[in-house]
Amino acid sequence: RLPPPSEIYLPLRANSKGVEFGDRTALAALVEETRAPIPPPDARPSVESRAAARPVLSPIDGAVVGHVVEADEAAARAAIATAARAFPEWSRTPFEARARMIERAADLIEARRGPLIALLQSEGGKTLDDALAEVREAADLCRYYAAQARILCADMPLPGPTGEANVLRRHGRGVFICISPWNFPLAIFIGQIAAALVAGNCVVAKPAEQTPLVAAMAIELLRESGVPKDVLHFAPGDGAIGAALVADPLAAGVVFTGSVEVAQRINRTLAERDGAIAPLIAETGGINAMIVDSTALIEQVVDDVMASAFRSAGQRCSALRLLCLQEEIAPLCLETLIGAARELRVGDPREIGTHVGPAIDAEAKAKLDAYLSRQRAAGRILYAGVAPSTGTFVAPHIVRLDRVDELQEEIFGPVLHVVTWRSERLSQLLTDIEASGYGLTLGMHTRIEQRIRALSHQASAGNIYVNRNMIGAVVGSQPFGGFGLSGTGPKAGGPDYLLRFLRETTLTINT
Ligand code: GLU
Repeated sequence: RLPPPSEIYLPLRANSKGVEFGDRTALAALVEETRAPIPPPDARPSVESRAAARPVLSPIDGAVVGHVVEADEAAARAAIATAARAFPEWSRTPFEARARMIERAADLIEARRGPLIALLQSEGGKTLDDALAEVREAADLCRYYAAQARILCADMPLPGPTGEANVLRRHGRGVFICISPWNFPLAIFIGQIAAALVAGNCVVAKPAEQTPLVAAMAIELLRESGVPKDVLHFAPGDGAIGAALVADPLAAGVVFTGSVEVAQRINRTLAERDGAIAPLIAETGGINAMIVDSTALIEQVVDDVMASAFRSAGQRCSALRLLCLQEEIAPLCLETLIGAARELRVGDPREIGTHVGPAIDAEAKAKLDAYLSRQRAAGRILYAGVAPSTGTFVAPHIVRLDRVDELQEEIFGPVLHVVTWRSERLSQLLTDIEASGYGLTLGMHTRIEQRIRALSHQASAGNIYVNRNMIGAVVGSQPFGGFGLSGTGPKAGGPDYLLRFLRETTLTINT
């Protein structure tokens, strides 16, 4: 059934091309907002921890952005226990009240976009476009899940014989552990939490080690929106804290976005621990390909490849890793691509006009540099850009491969791989792409309608994008998430996401 108009959700960011700045005055005003002084951000766990404060460094220049006190294991366990005690009352709170709190959080996200963008830039290394898009996505996720809760948490009468009344009810499951990544430290962090809370769960949230400050600001605004302290706990820390949280038998469910290795480890822990059988919602990575045939418009392909491979410095799980060009157009397409890549500005993402910011930290940079020097030794580099030598910048690169299966791992940075294919091998190409075991995003550029129909039915990828870029899924319009090694589903920002956070009861009354 269609939800009543008051529940129809309209995304703030319904534009596949990302955020556009129509006029310079609006842009200047936004930049001004991001420069307003804010108190030095600090992050500390909601339960007392014995850990010492440590500085959080900017990937742009190594400057100290703020400080974090991380949770120790005792604090993590205490947070779950306190949240478990708060659960019965929270789950009895009417869903309408919970939905209003989460909508208030969306309003506060918009009201504080200046400081949020400033932190997304200094702590997360985001460009202004990416940071603004993320703020909007965060607000979208809150409003969307609030609208979904009104639909899914309302009692649903079910048919039955005369003399019997049946109803389906949905409630929270208990304490959800929310573990989020550094590449969307606001949108994914708050999206997971909003979904869990609005469905009636209590939450212990662990942000990525690299980005606790944006997360702390998000926790602050959720509290201001009315979410009680014991219902929502903050547990910044490293992987060991995440592991302790997941292993606790009081954890009734886990939502995780990050690497496939960690998702598999969480899955094993959940299978082996005592206590209730808890669901895992995992969203991991992908070796995402774009298939371009000789009917494609080269200028459009180049524009979409640039955005898909190099925006956010390639640090999105949706990003394009493997461009597959039909042989006939490959030379011209590559030449145009390299020309466009030369125009990319790599540097301080706070400067207007920067396209590519830094890798998130020194470890990520070292891994990318080592990978690129192996490709250089193999003579495969088609293009190497230039990047500042300070901070953790990695220059955009284009790498030539002979075969699809030469790319065996997700390279999480501004590195685009290119292969060519012959028309009679199209079906095999898709099989080769899928042999990686991932299935997250797939791009396609073709003007052959029949091919679009055939490939989209045959392909096994969670998000398929035709004749456009393949990043920046819009909440409610392009529910996001894949399968196989890419994750468990349900899709974030989609109509079924909340269901995994809910337990269902049927009540039958003999009248
Ligand atoms: N939803 C994001 C996008 O469509 C990617 C999320 C991620 O990288 O985890 O680009």
